[in-house]
Amino acid sequence: MAVESSIVGPVILLGPPGAGKGTQAKRVELQYHIPQISTGDILRENVKANTPLGHSAQEVMARGQLVPDELVNPMVAVRVREPDCDHGFILDGFPRTAAQAGWLDAFLDHEFFDKSLHVNGLPIVIRLDVDYNELLLRLTGRRSCPTCGRIYNVHLQPPKVDELCDDDGTKLVIRNDDREEVIRERLTAYVRQTQPVADYYEQKGRLMSVNGDLPVDQVTAQIFCIIDNSLRR
Ligand code: AMP
Repeated sequence: MAVESSIVGPVILLGPPGAGKGTQAKRVELQYHIPQISTGDILRENVKANTPLGHSAQEVMARGQLVPDELVNPMVAVRVREPDCDHGFILDGFPRTAAQAGWLDAFLDHEFFDKSLHVNGLPIVIRLDVDYNELLLRLTGRRSCPTCGRIYNVHLQPPKVDELCDDDGTKLVIRNDDREEVIRERLTAYVRQTQPVADYYEQKGRLMSVNGDLPVDQVTAQIFCIIDNSLRR
């Protein structure tokens, strides 16, 4: 049952590429009526629209490396200040470095939640833990429909007809950074740069872990349970 107009505050989903952050974030969005903010999606939209931000980020993204904080942090600030985030929001793909995590805490503390008297500005931080080989399988098999955005996996959730979307018959595409050599770079970048984010929240006693190898509905149930518990506090 969806939760009606509760103030949830910020929810952060951590986990390597392919952990299921996007899928789970969409479910949290529906359940708690708070928007999903995916920094990867916003950056890709900017690349597609050829904005100055997209232009600066494009090459770094194609190499599977992280876009500099000077570009990503202000982009997040602009999005989070929009009115649909007043009751909370889910960050998917941000923070990805300890520096971004520190910036976010300061931002939420001093700026954002001043305007909402009821919200505990501390983010609920949930990490999805997934086995490395399972991640490779998920990422190398990932395909998406350029028309409706539906995601498939040729190994795990194939379309009924090879390479075609079940819903609209469009030819599925592989994301530019889901090529195998880029995937390895993205996973390496995750371990090198994002592990410190988990350490940052763990040291503050705010890291909750979920077993992301479980079936998708069970992962969702665990995430809802963590959010519900934090609402009752
Ligand atoms: P994602 O869709 O989250 O896997 O992100 C795709 C790409 O966008 C990443 O490989 C990075 O190049 C860039 N990106 C997304 N989020 C961030 C972030 N928080 N900091 C830096 N770069 C990011």
